[in-house]
Amino acid sequence: MDELYKELSRYASVDMDQPLSKMTTLRIGGRAKYVVWPENEVALDSIMRLINEKNIPFKVIGKGSDLLCSDDDFEGAVIRLDRHFHHSYFDQNVLTVQAGASIIALAVQAMKNGLSGLEFASGIPGTVGGAVFMNAGAYKSSVAEIIDEVQVLRNGSLEWMKAEECEFGYRSSIFQKHPEWIIVAARFVLTPGDSRAISDLMEDRRKRRMASQPLDYPSCGSVFRNPEGLNAWQLIDGIGYRGRRIGDAMVSDKHCNFILNMGSATAEDYLELVKEIQDKVSEKYGVQLHTEMEMFNWKRTA
Ligand SMILES: Cc1cc2nc3c(=O)[nH]c(=O)nc-3n(C[C@H](O)[C@H](O)[C@H](O)COP(=O)(O)OP(=O)(O)OC[C@H]3O[C@@H](n4cnc5c(N)ncnc54)[C@H](O)[C@@H]3O)c2cc1C
Repeated sequence: MDELYKELSRYASVDMDQPLSKMTTLRIGGRAKYVVWPENEVALDSIMRLINEKNIPFKVIGKGSDLLCSDDDFEGAVIRLDRHFHHSYFDQNVLTVQAGASIIALAVQAMKNGLSGLEFASGIPGTVGGAVFMNAGAYKSSVAEIIDEVQVLRNGSLEWMKAEECEFGYRSSIFQKHPEWIIVAARFVLTPGDSRAISDLMEDRRKRRMASQPLDYPSCGSVFRNPEGLNAWQLIDGIGYRGRRIGDAMVSDKHCNFILNMGSATAEDYLELVKEIQDKVSEKYGVQLHTEMEMFNWKRTA
């Protein structure tokens, strides 16, 4: 039996040689050697000590809804919090929640509790950890506006960081500069509101998403960040790439900032399409498109 598997298994359930394609909404990616599911902070801390001591590469994956994994195998440990770190606690308008909780489920709970602020998140298919990491947002709102504190495991200690320390920006945060930190929990401050009105707003937005986004095929949401003052989808439309396909990777006809996996797209097909779009947009408009989705386990970048 694999030695590291045995050691990791002292602290958590561990799966070996699992396809990343099953851990990401794009359904693309090679295998991960170890997938670790810690039950609590003590187990997580022990696992991180082991990983650091043995110098094992690792990656926390939430719902994998913002990742383009390469076709290569990942010879390290994927840490997943969504099985056990999903508890949430409401204290009047303050919501404290563990990082593995689904942000969509949380938006629904907040609505039922008559609390407003998370409506924007009701269609974002990620975890709290992923949403904080990305400063996820929609409809001109984002995590940054409602967050008070983030609990992080860093340098071997669990600490609460105030929102001001988190350097939130457009789809960015300090956590992107520190992939070795693990977001463990977050505290949100919401606003009392009327459950019915909140529910109506969420329903209205659900309909807007259904009408504008291609949700019937695997994707990672918007592929490119909007350049300052511009819409990425308009630039992609402008180069005539609506419906453009390489292998099974295809620019959506419905929303051309979505690139879909039409069946068995490889990561290489996907990246080639991403790069073609970047080149054509740069040629035609002199604008460099940067990806919003993150590339994981690649030897090259986009
Ligand atoms: C159909 C669709 C629609 C989408 N719509 C939106 C939208 O409207 N707005 C928007 O902002 N995004 C959107 N997204 C993108 C995505 O859902 C968000 O960025 C989401 O916040 C990612 O969360 P996740 O848990 O899936 O993170 P993952 O994709 O698993 O990970 C993303 C990054 O966060 C890091 N991370 C995750 N958890 C932790 C943790 N606990 N500690 C430290 N790092 C962590 C990962 O290591 C990785 O670097 C959409 C995606 C899809 C598929």
